[in-house]
Amino acid sequence: MNFGDGGRLGSRGRMAFFPSSRLPNVGTTIFTVMSRLAAEHGAINLSQGFPDFSPSPLLLERVAHHMAAGANQYPPMAGVAPLREAIAEKVARLYLANYDPESEITVTAGATQAIYTAIASCVRPGDEVIVFAPVYDSYVPGIELNGGHAVYAHLRFPDFKPDWEEVRALITPRTRMIIINSPHNPSGTLWSADDMAMLETLVRDSKIVVVSDEVYEHVVFDQETGRRHESVTRYPGLRERSFVISSFGKTYHVTGWKVAYCLAPRALSTEFRKAHQFIVFTVHHPSQLALADFMRAKPEFADNLADFYRNKRDFFRKQLEASKFELLPCAGTYFQLATYAAISDEPDTSFVQRLTREFGVAAIPVSVFNPDGEDKRVIRFCFAKTESTLAAAGERLRKI
Ligand code: PMP
Ligand code: GLN
Repeated sequence: MNFGDGGRLGSRGRMAFFPSSRLPNVGTTIFTVMSRLAAEHGAINLSQGFPDFSPSPLLLERVAHHMAAGANQYPPMAGVAPLREAIAEKVARLYLANYDPESEITVTAGATQAIYTAIASCVRPGDEVIVFAPVYDSYVPGIELNGGHAVYAHLRFPDFKPDWEEVRALITPRTRMIIINSPHNPSGTLWSADDMAMLETLVRDSKIVVVSDEVYEHVVFDQETGRRHESVTRYPGLRERSFVISSFGKTYHVTGWKVAYCLAPRALSTEFRKAHQFIVFTVHHPSQLALADFMRAKPEFADNLADFYRNKRDFFRKQLEASKFELLPCAGTYFQLATYAAISDEPDTSFVQRLTREFGVAAIPVSVFNPDGEDKRVIRFCFAKTESTLAAAGERLRKI
């Protein structure tokens, strides 16, 4: 997972009084590396996951309104009440789960901070935390900064399904936490109700805490076939021991606002907030009020997100039909995986660089999410883009 300029930066920045890095194997995140390379080469950036279109004008108007109306000082530590209430209503409506806005919902500076804070509030030196590879890149550094050890279960190519026998074998008396992510970045796969039931059974009577990264909860495709987002909040045996995290960045096209939230039962939320208040204390005030207004005014926005992104998924897949890329299924998220075995046998990390430089399209190499660098010659494209961006990218990708 050491990619980019990590090594070089590490040696250049080393100082005699600074004994050793707390994260010796970490370089610069792949998202920064690829977005920078895309900018340097004027490439179409389908690497880092963010929309290239604007959020709703109403949402922007509400932020401006609340800034002008004076919401410019610290909001309450756990987040503004109207936003926590709107979150509680949404979760009750969608998943029939009740969380008390006062004591069980905390607004965070993005899902990244929520995940880090959940880890920091539970993991002690020597604890083991099970993660599933390919693994989103912030989890393991968060574990290691808190003295924990990441233990890897595998979501194997090409289905990326959890292997519950493997997970069972990885659990030891030192297992403190399991971090899960469905819909899954980067594979675009979903966990089924059976998967959730297996997890529920495995952790029963244990001291294991679950962190459920559900930032793509609203981006689940083909729901007419019976698919749905299996939120941890639907499963009482999991809910009682879980931090459930979602991000407004993904749902409302505002990744740069870095506003997200964490749901957890009171005892876990208390521990979470002890850490939260000293990691960030609180989160941008006018954005929180604007999001609360928007959720109330447009409750259907999140419900319509799956259709919105399904159209983009289908449009992008069509663009690549006549290309040499082979597309994997995409059941959720705004990421499309593709193999390029018919084009080249070079490692995915060099292929994405060449794709950016020579063909003008940036993507993410999936091997960087694997602890052993396993490389199946698969790359990830982000389709949270306008049709004209996706069409222009398609034209370039079909020429390869
Ligand atoms: N988890 C996953 C799976 C993600 O894809 C992302 C980023 N998009 C995050 C967490 C971080 O979200 P945020 O930008 O709200 O910190
Ligand atoms: N989550 C986004 C992705 O997977 C990137 C977020 C970031 O750059 N840290 O592309």
